[in-house]
Amino acid sequence: MVSLPDHDDAPAACVRVVDLDDAGLACGTHPGTPRPWARVCDLPVASVCASCARRVVPIRHRFSWSFLCGTCSALDRAIAAPYGAAALTPHHGQADEDRGALWARLFPDRAPGTRVSIGRDGDVHTQTIAGTDAWHARLGAHRTAAVAAVATAAGLAGTVEWTRFAAAAPTSPEATAAGYLAYVTAVHPWVDSVEPRVADLAWLTAVVERLPADPLER
Ligand SMILES: [Zn+2]
Ligand SMILES: [Zn+2]
Repeated sequence: MVSLPDHDDAPAACVRVVDLDDAGLACGTHPGTPRPWARVCDLPVASVCASCARRVVPIRHRFSWSFLCGTCSALDRAIAAPYGAAALTPHHGQADEDRGALWARLFPDRAPGTRVSIGRDGDVHTQTIAGTDAWHARLGAHRTAAVAAVATAAGLAGTVEWTRFAAAAPTSPEATAAGYLAYVTAVHPWVDSVEPRVADLAWLTAVVERLPADPLER
């Protein structure tokens, strides 16, 4: 950091970095800082989208977590709409919202299970996902693998600034569709017996292209 004599107490700027080996997001300026309570760091708690692996998903509020970015969430909702469900897959980690997903109608015994909690372990903030189905464990594993695959294709490795990763791995309807296909196949393998068209990349891409623009796109 550059320190100017007259501004020694100026707060250091936050820089989001991503660990491409485990898909973890952190602040490069304030590593290990407990968030979101610590005022020294301006970066909100966030994760990489578990579907496209190319966008940041910020926490919505302290006890509400999302796993998919705005575009991928909209895609998931659009595929579920013909079935009269709010979403196809549980991707908010909130029991009331997860119960609106088609997944909950298919697996009612699993629907109430998901809870997300945010805590603190010493100087490190933590996010814990608890539930009765294994989909959240599959989601975490898939996100790590998806980010690693995107990074490899972009020629990046290690820990890099998020803006560099985002520039090297831009989003597109094709990338969103391919990412969603990989996500839903790995995390919710029941989907091919319900909506087999998700395996048709051309169909999926056309659905993405009809989505309204995400106002929160970043
Ligand atoms: Zn920071
Ligand atoms: Zn996404």
